[in-house]
Amino acid sequence: MRPLVPEWVESLKPYVPGKPIEETEREYNITNVIKLASNENPLGPAPLAVEAMEVAARKVHLYPDGSSYYLVRRLAQHLGVEANEVFVGSGSNEIIELIIRTFTTPDDETLLSAGSFMMYKVALQSHGRRFVEVPMQAGFRYDLPAMARALTPKVRLVFLANPDNPTGTAFSRAELEAFLAHVGPETFVVLDEAYFEYVDWAEYPNGLDYFRKHPNLFVLRTYSKIYGLAGIRLGYGVMNPRLVGYLNRTKMPFNLTSVAQAAGLAALDDVEHLRTTRETTHRGLRYLERELRALGIDVPHSHANFVFANFKGPAQPIYEKLLPKGVIVRPVPGSGWPNALRISAGLQSQNERLVKALTEILKG
Ligand SMILES: *Cc1c(COP(=O)(O)O)cnc(C)c1O
Repeated sequence: MRPLVPEWVESLKPYVPGKPIEETEREYNITNVIKLASNENPLGPAPLAVEAMEVAARKVHLYPDGSSYYLVRRLAQHLGVEANEVFVGSGSNEIIELIIRTFTTPDDETLLSAGSFMMYKVALQSHGRRFVEVPMQAGFRYDLPAMARALTPKVRLVFLANPDNPTGTAFSRAELEAFLAHVGPETFVVLDEAYFEYVDWAEYPNGLDYFRKHPNLFVLRTYSKIYGLAGIRLGYGVMNPRLVGYLNRTKMPFNLTSVAQAAGLAALDDVEHLRTTRETTHRGLRYLERELRALGIDVPHSHANFVFANFKGPAQPIYEKLLPKGVIVRPVPGSGWPNALRISAGLQSQNERLVKALTEILKG
């Protein structure tokens, strides 16, 4: 008999999200659990976005504007690009799925960096698409020269996360430009800049400086991280208008809720929330890097809102010992790092709790 699903669905390992706070409190019969597992904003959502969502909630009996007319124009103005160069999606994850669905066939290959964002592999495999992974270089960094050498004619699509998740490392303008110089006119490149707003590095490339010169380049950003709107599902891409046109053909008619559109408009005005988030995160990152390294843990410099903690052995037991102490972090075996934990920068009090718990586990 024919199997229920194709082989690639049968063998698909689902994406494992961070463990919820409520579940952990129930399982261990504890309270005051903190979650540093999903790179969420510890200060909460942008307050201006919350106000706008409350107003929008009164009109949810109406279907949303399927073209997200005002949000697209406001984003274009905010970014300094044309409205026809912007595509909005239900999280950048939806745009990743749409790009795979729209621009690749089962005969194509996609080029990835091993050890990078696991969602790329899940999305590709769920569409029966093949991928090739190039190992990272020392320091948990993308090896872009090796990826350039792996660009065969079969490679139709490339995913680059900058900064990367879960390693938090980033590549420079010079590295990106050298790579793009090797990309042929029939290969698409996705530059995933989910942590763009956190980056504080003079050599960091802004994807928006490249998409016009490279008409097959998608630049993806999200409201899930610095704007604190992960629960509303809102992301966007900037790209050549022809690519926007194709994504508009394959997307669902109402991919963004009216509440999400309202939040996205208002969040861009909340510069105060953005500023305090950046400050809190940078302080948290430097604190976590310093304290974890003092415990002998290998931590690369992070350009995002989390640190990548590499232990000398398997990280899963450490993750499990942190749970009864009320601290949820994120194991990342699915990305190929069984000895590492990804730890989001939280409030100072939360970061201190994590360090204290980790110290007890490693020294106890
Ligand atoms: C968090 C994250 C995203 C954003 O996903 P959304 O669907 O917008 O919530 C995309 N790419 C990377 C690398 C991320 O870490």
